[in-house]
Amino acid sequence: MKMIFLGPPGAGKGTMASKVKAAMGIPHISTGELFRDNVSRQTELGLQVKSIMDRGDLVPDDLTVAMVKERLERPDAEKGYILDGFPRTIPQAEALAKIVELDCVVNFSCSDEELIRRLTGRRQCPKCGRIYHIAFMPPKAEGVCDDDGATLSIRADDTLEAVQNRLEVYEAATKPLISWYTNNGLIKTVDASAAPDAVFDFVKDALEI
Ligand code: ADP
Repeated sequence: MKMIFLGPPGAGKGTMASKVKAAMGIPHISTGELFRDNVSRQTELGLQVKSIMDRGDLVPDDLTVAMVKERLERPDAEKGYILDGFPRTIPQAEALAKIVELDCVVNFSCSDEELIRRLTGRRQCPKCGRIYHIAFMPPKAEGVCDDDGATLSIRADDTLEAVQNRLEVYEAATKPLISWYTNNGLIKTVDASAAPDAVFDFVKDALEI
C-alpha cells in the first residue's frame, strides 16, 4: 500500500508511521529524516539545506523531489511505503502524481496550541531516532534513550520561534493539499489530538488494517 501522511508539524505523523511500518512491514520514508541524515553526514545536499531547516522553512521543491524520487526507486519501496512529510506543496504533489498512484492519504488534524506544546517538549534519540516528550512520553531516566542509552537531543527547529514559523509555513504551503487530495477522493482525516494509542486506532481504521 502506498500512502501519504499529511498534517502539521507535531501532529505525530512520524510516531504513527513507525507503528504502521511495524504493522505492515513497509518502509517509513520521512523527508525530514532524509534531510537530517544528509545534514549530519555533511553531504552537499546537507550543507545546502541546513540553515533552511533550522529556520523551519521549506527546502526548494526541486531538491526535495529529486531526493524522494531516488528513494522511491530503491527495491524496498516496490510493495509500498509511508511517505511522511512529503508532499508539502502543490508542485511536490503534482510531481509525485506523475510517478506513483497512491492508495491512501491520511490527514492528521490537531490544534495549534497542542502542536506547540508537543514540539517544544520533544526530545529525540540521535542514535535510533526514537521520539520522546518531556511531559507526555518521558524516557525512564531523564534525558537518556531507553533503548540505547544515548543522550537525547532537541531538534534545532523545535525552538518556539522556529515552531511558529513552521506552523505558518504549513498554513500557507501545505494546508492547500487537503483540498487537492479531497478532490482526488483519497483523503481520510484522523483526530491527531488524542493520545497515541487512540490515534493509532484511528489510523488503522483509515487504512482498514
Ligand atoms: P516536521 O513535520 O516536524 O516539521 P520534518 O522532520 O518532517 O518536520 O521536516 C523538518 C524540515 O525538513 C522541514 O521544516 C523542512 O525544512 C524540511 N522538509 C521536510 N520535508 C520537506 C518537504 N517535503 N519539502 C520541503 N522541505 C521539507
